[in-house]
Amino acid sequence: MKTTLTVPARKKRRLQYRHISHCTFAVSDGSALLLIDPFFSGRFFWAGNTERHLDRPQLRLAAVRSCDAVLVSHEHGDHYDPAALWMLLGQTNAIIHAPRIVIDDARKRGLDVRRFREVRPLRPWRVGTMKITPFPSAGSEKVKPVDRVGFLIESGGRRLYHQGDSHSFSPTWLAFRGKVDALIMWPHRVSEVVSAIQPRTVVFHHLDRFRPGNFHCNRDAKLELRYWGHYHPRTRFVVPKRNVWCAV
Ligand SMILES: [Zn+2]
Repeated sequence: MKTTLTVPARKKRRLQYRHISHCTFAVSDGSALLLIDPFFSGRFFWAGNTERHLDRPQLRLAAVRSCDAVLVSHEHGDHYDPAALWMLLGQTNAIIHAPRIVIDDARKRGLDVRRFREVRPLRPWRVGTMKITPFPSAGSEKVKPVDRVGFLIESGGRRLYHQGDSHSFSPTWLAFRGKVDALIMWPHRVSEVVSAIQPRTVVFHHLDRFRPGNFHCNRDAKLELRYWGHYHPRTRFVVPKRNVWCAV
């Protein structure tokens, strides 16, 4: 069956997320559709190598015909995929929200930057009935303009945070300490983040297989779940199935 992506049915107005692959997620509360860090090109340049994505998404980008907003967390090639953004600009009405460093690069590549909006830390906006607030990644609090962010998405009393690739937590995240239902993060400095932010559920991303894999990837999902579940028994750890809407 062909995999498609559309706004899901409203589940009691619950916020939902859907894992596409690697760091790419769709988020919706039934009112609009967000795509976070859409990575579809299957390769990116990193540390002197071209990294090849072996666990490619089942969802084809050409099948995404409607999307209200795209959120880009930072400029690394597995999160900022200019070819994917080019296609999304052409086939959807999406507005792209990103740090200025990403927008500057997109301009050089000839993308239509009139459809881009620069993110500013702690300055929220709405898409449908979802409120989106960017927070700096750890170490980016004093960088101006901010270069790396994550996104807090709120709707119907539920909160989800996609941290991009943050190397630990930023003190600014303490604003949602104990109030976040699902924290999407890579399995890196997990104890620090979980102890400080106290999410109800941790959703792991960034586990996919890449070759040569000279960055944070190629992780054994079962091992990560067992390990972190052992140290933090009160937190629920999840490696989401792909292409399934999950209520937050
Ligand atoms: Zn990454």
